[in-house]
Amino acid sequence: MLHKFQKNISLKNYTTFKIGGPAKYFFVAKNKDDLLNAIKTSKTLKLPIFILGGGSNLLISEKGFNGLVIKADNSDIKLEGNKAFVGAGANITKLAYLTAEKGLSGFEWAAGVPGTVGGSIYGNAQAFGTKISDVIESVQAINLKGPKGYPEIKEFTKEQCKFSLKNSIFKKPSGWVIVSAVLKFQSESAERIKDRIKGFLEYRRAKHPMTFPSAGSVFVNPEVKIKSKKLLEKFPELSEYNKNKAIPAGYLIASCGLAGKKIGGAQISEKHANFIVNLGGAKSKDVLLLIKLAQKKVKQKFNINLKTEIQIL
Ligand SMILES: Cc1cc2nc3c(=O)[nH]c(=O)nc-3n(C[C@H](O)[C@H](O)[C@H](O)COP(=O)(O)OP(=O)(O)OC[C@H]3O[C@@H](n4cnc5c(N)ncnc54)[C@H](O)[C@@H]3O)c2cc1C
Repeated sequence: MLHKFQKNISLKNYTTFKIGGPAKYFFVAKNKDDLLNAIKTSKTLKLPIFILGGGSNLLISEKGFNGLVIKADNSDIKLEGNKAFVGAGANITKLAYLTAEKGLSGFEWAAGVPGTVGGSIYGNAQAFGTKISDVIESVQAINLKGPKGYPEIKEFTKEQCKFSLKNSIFKKPSGWVIVSAVLKFQSESAERIKDRIKGFLEYRRAKHPMTFPSAGSVFVNPEVKIKSKKLLEKFPELSEYNKNKAIPAGYLIASCGLAGKKIGGAQISEKHANFIVNLGGAKSKDVLLLIKLAQKKVKQKFNINLKTEIQIL
């Protein structure tokens, strides 16, 4: 199998941020057997593994990865009745359009999001009040450790996936590689579903910075309530956010005056302060410095710890 691995492959162009150094070994897995065999080979050779989906929630350092990067590219999509049987590498925007065409509702939020099913299950991707976990019936994943050290495939029910805000069991360090999933949708008029998609795309175009490379939202919206009277008087919007489950991280960062702040080639977006954009030639350290700055200022002003949503390698 080792002869099938490409060597010294730049990861920059496999991420939407367009930032990152080389992978020592790189392999594109087209199906379940490819995934399993690549994992087994990496075990035999004691190579660390990193699983790459669409690279749209990732910040990779210029040092790259001294091991094997497996790009999950098993992208089959089979629609049967109100269910979809999908490979982890399937693109979620494509799935949003295919299900809409068939009059299947529940994936409209994903139109325009450049991720894969695997990466989206890993981080329980969501938008406009709908999460991928809302439509999950089951997930098939390979245990990187496995009893006796051998990787094996396990089927997870939705409950066993332990989904929460931007989180799932697959994010735990024990290490699972998502292979495929079964999703279940509601039937609705295709026209109404397409209209919703149109509205969501218009919202994204109006509110999100789409002209520069980014990795989507950098921070998870913190699930906290602000009690300080002084802060509630100074920032009246906080009373509204207190009624919801979470405070938008972009609002907190912008309230610290950081929208538009640049370090090197990276900038906290002026359009949406929870996005950091690559203006051209940004280094991972530029982005990391902006992340640290936002965390420090938000902590000072609101006593809130912002947690990163993007994965840092
Ligand atoms: C313009 C733009 C808009 C976005 N809008 C949204 C949005 O509305 N909502 C939202 O939630 N996110 C959004 N994102 C972020 C991102 O697209 C999602 O988080 C997406 O789900 C990440 O999937 P991915 O395949 O790109 O994962 P990657 O970035 O490739 O990987 C992310 C993590 O998942 C792990 N992973 C990937 N595949 C697998 C697998 N098969 N098995 C195990 N682990 C795996 C990786 O190891 C990594 O730790 C946006 C990003 C951009 C650039």
